[in-house]
Amino acid sequence: MGLLRRRVIVADDDQVIRHIFKHLLTSWGYEPVAVSTGSEALVAFRESPPALMILDWEMPGMSGVEVCKKVRAELNDYHPYIVLVSSHSEMNYVATALHLGADDFISKPVNPGVLKARIAVGIRAFDLQDKLLIAQRQLEYQAAHDPLTRLENRRSAVQRLKTEALRVQNSGERLILGICDIDHFKPINDVYGHPVGDRILIEFAHRLESCFRPYDIIGRWGGEEFIVAMSTNEKDYWQVYDRFRKSVASTPFLQSDLGLEVNVSIGLSVYEPKLFGEAPNINQLIVRADKALYDAKNSGRNKVLESTSVSGVS
Ligand code: GH3
Ligand code: MG
Ligand code: MG
Ligand code: MG
Repeated sequence: MGLLRRRVIVADDDQVIRHIFKHLLTSWGYEPVAVSTGSEALVAFRESPPALMILDWEMPGMSGVEVCKKVRAELNDYHPYIVLVSSHSEMNYVATALHLGADDFISKPVNPGVLKARIAVGIRAFDLQDKLLIAQRQLEYQAAHDPLTRLENRRSAVQRLKTEALRVQNSGERLILGICDIDHFKPINDVYGHPVGDRILIEFAHRLESCFRPYDIIGRWGGEEFIVAMSTNEKDYWQVYDRFRKSVASTPFLQSDLGLEVNVSIGLSVYEPKLFGEAPNINQLIVRADKALYDAKNSGRNKVLESTSVSGVS
């Protein structure tokens, strides 16, 4: 968005005014796109939203106010600064313009010094908005991701699981939930230190991402536990998880320096929408996968076990 901050759309049906605005804006370092109608202004806006729009109120066809209304209706988190220009200077015009979404109002004839100052105000407001949007996106990212591995966190993964379960109800695919828990991870921390443990967790996350498909749900469940959920029509899903388990066991971690052997146990549970027409119970799917993981741990670790019951019933 930062690159667009110098783009200004100017719409005026008066060719002379258009040329003057264009010339002034260029000399002030902006990149004006000058058009003669409201609909052209909308097209230019849709092609590439600008930082600022200067719209003549009175134009044949779509007026500046109508353009302003449409722009505001189309985007709600992106707010180009809109200045309406009119030969009317009565207060009710000013009020109407601001009410309909304009940020500023200038009456003709336009004084270049005033125009320059007001544009600077607009750009200032746009920059502030840009910073807020970036901060908001960062917050949204942080709320949904684990800072160490960059995978989705538990809350976000559960949310996606719920959405995916509803989707497979219609597609008829199975939804498989796998909870992966690294075996004897605590001793690794104890012997090599916490930072080495962290590096293993990061590598583990990368390996999950490269072994499974981009549209599978991969998340950090907490600590040394991760989830991988997938929807599939294939019956060989157990093999898919077991292939991952084997690759973890057979390829040492932190090869560049330590080359540590790591094992993982995985508990699987399955949601079968074909068998059970009712709404999916995600909590139950999680409990079953957890139970299978517990059994995998207690029967020797480094294995994939599937819950014996099929999820979908209460
Ligand atoms: P098990 O095979 O039964 O799963 O044994 P375990 O040692 O893996 O399980 P346990 O629950 O006893 O220990 C988990 C360890 O994971 C303890 C905790 O310090 C470590 N851990 C959790 N989160 C992190 C982390 O973010 N970084 C590091 N380095 N260690 C972590
Ligand atoms: Mg006009
Ligand atoms: Mg654990
Ligand atoms: Mg563990």
